[in-house]
Amino acid sequence: MSEPGKKRKFVTQAINDEILEKLSLKNRYNFLNNNLMSILTPQQFNFLKSVQKFCLRYEKKNNITHGPDEDVYNWIPDFGKEGYITRAHNFEMVDVNYDYWGACADFMRYLAIDLFDTQFAMGSGATVLAINPIYDHHDNVPVRLEALKELVTGQAAGCILITEPERGSDAVHQLTTCTEQEDGSFILNGDKIFNTNAPRAKWAITYATAEKNNGNMMAQFLVNTSWEGWNCERVFIPWVPKLYLGREKLVNLRVPKEYVLGGVGKGREHLFEGLIPERIGIAVGAISQCWGALSHAVIYANLRKQFDQEILKFQGVGFTLTDLWARTTNLTLGLLKFCESYDEKFEKFGGKLPKNISQAMVASASQFKYHTTSLSKDVCYECANLMGGAGLCDNTMTHDYLNISRIQEIVGGSRQIQQYIMSMALRTLYKMSVM
Ligand SMILES: Cc1cc2nc3c(=O)[nH]c(=O)nc-3n(C[C@H](O)[C@H](O)[C@H](O)COP(=O)(O)OP(=O)(O)OC[C@H]3O[C@@H](n4cnc5c(N)ncnc54)[C@H](O)[C@@H]3O)c2cc1C
Repeated sequence: MSEPGKKRKFVTQAINDEILEKLSLKNRYNFLNNNLMSILTPQQFNFLKSVQKFCLRYEKKNNITHGPDEDVYNWIPDFGKEGYITRAHNFEMVDVNYDYWGACADFMRYLAIDLFDTQFAMGSGATVLAINPIYDHHDNVPVRLEALKELVTGQAAGCILITEPERGSDAVHQLTTCTEQEDGSFILNGDKIFNTNAPRAKWAITYATAEKNNGNMMAQFLVNTSWEGWNCERVFIPWVPKLYLGREKLVNLRVPKEYVLGGVGKGREHLFEGLIPERIGIAVGAISQCWGALSHAVIYANLRKQFDQEILKFQGVGFTLTDLWARTTNLTLGLLKFCESYDEKFEKFGGKLPKNISQAMVASASQFKYHTTSLSKDVCYECANLMGGAGLCDNTMTHDYLNISRIQEIVGGSRQIQQYIMSMALRTLYKMSVM
């Protein structure tokens, strides 16, 4: 066991030594594992434990306290070497071969990493958003494969540029333009904003359109952020102070032909195909945050005494925790079922989902994104609340969970946009069902 108080760098210690020590990453992982051991398959459980083992050693070896002065971007290469940036796919095209991969494997990876450090987990999630389109559209072009390898192995961070200052939810009516040149390259001009990792990323997936406000004329590009015409400054989001988000001014940025992942007319389709994994990824993140907050609050409530009793024994605390715990467990089960079914279909159809199945999954992905981010908002707040001052001060990671849970309903399409998508799905279902 490490020394009490070494787990996190804080201004003043408010929590007693014993409780602080019991809130160790090891104990929080034990709590998670004891919950999931009967639910997970041996393969899922073993992989979860192997990522946890790495995180435990990594935290200890590098004396990581998760305090405000740590730069989470410095950890990316080490996690990349272990194959822990993403497990959504196997990357045999760049000689990266995993024994275990797919939606379930990635769920397990994320759970372990989120309990280790939730801001780090979210940052690497944004790199995955850059990986997925290159994986789908590399067409064996060497420069794309090189970028893919760097991102997957943690040699570089990635970002995705969809949102613009004047086009957020309305992501298909973009104002950033792309103009095709005689040699097949494109010149990009426009403004992007709120792009996670952008100031620290080497590779950016960027969307633009041949005609402003015309979704049918969109294209998708792979951009090296060292190219001339890329101008990026940081947008600071106080709820995730360790993450670097960008605002980019693209000024006559030339994208060579081999970096065009989807030409004019293909961008919109590529944008939508990325939305299922993105929303499921956010849902996995949100449910992981619930477990991160719960593991703190449950350990704390079993130790903290008031009126000469452990506070868990007071119904106001214990019953509130059971409600949060039940809802988190049930949604975890639902999400796991989705991931299992996704993996099965992926295998059955040789790695490319048929259009009708992938369309049905759009609604499921929105349902999970909507439901888990709403749950995370409740669970993280209530867990901090049940820990009283201890949950709100800087002594534990509870306030990281509280903070990060506040932004999940906005990222990857707001709550109202998910509801809009779901209402359209209900319209389709009505048409399919009622004669
Ligand atoms: C921490 C963070 C990370 C992000 N990371 C990325 C990233 O990596 N890449 C990227 O491209 N973008 C990223 N974003 C941007 C994010 O996707 C957008 O903020 C989001 O889509 C909302 O767009 P907006 O901020 O312009 O809000 P707006 O679209 O202006 O929405 C404002 C409000 O109006 C509501 N609204 C809008 N239209 C409708 C409608 N039709 N019906 C009902 N309500 C509506 C919204 O729900 C919202 O509540 C990130 C944002 C944040 C905060």
